[in-house]
Amino acid sequence: MSSVPDDAIISLVVFDMDDTLLGLNSVKLAYEVRPHTVEAILELWNIRNVLVALWSAGTEAYVSNMVDVVLLPAIHVKNPFFFFSRILTYEDTTNGFKDLNKICEVYDVPKERVVLIDDSIEQCNLNIMNGFRAIIVPPFQPESNLIDDRALVGLREKILA
Ligand SMILES: [Mg+2]
Repeated sequence: MSSVPDDAIISLVVFDMDDTLLGLNSVKLAYEVRPHTVEAILELWNIRNVLVALWSAGTEAYVSNMVDVVLLPAIHVKNPFFFFSRILTYEDTTNGFKDLNKICEVYDVPKERVVLIDDSIEQCNLNIMNGFRAIIVPPFQPESNLIDDRALVGLREKILA
């Protein structure tokens, strides 16, 4: 299904969790999953040699709760590792900041093969300064859903660009 060459440069895509894939609906007071999350992740998995990971600067307890209670029921999946090769949490940060040097060590992957998808440029600053690639998407705001949120549509093409 893919026209992407087998030697695609990017092999690890790290999704931020809060306000990138999940957001708090301040009207309903409930967390929601961003539209097009499933298709975005599946189309990345369908590219040869691409892995997808989930990353939050939150604690492991917080992240696993959000994954189990919010994310998995919404995408009708029981096992998070169907979607994510790994779930990274506060312990994988440096002073609370996401540090892709750490993920390179965990996966044994060179930095030019890693891209972070995040809603916060502040959270990515360390990585951008270190020469990593980050794609910044607008924060997901579920209560303002008058227009379709398409931030995750076409992500594959941006990553492979
Ligand atoms: Mg975020």
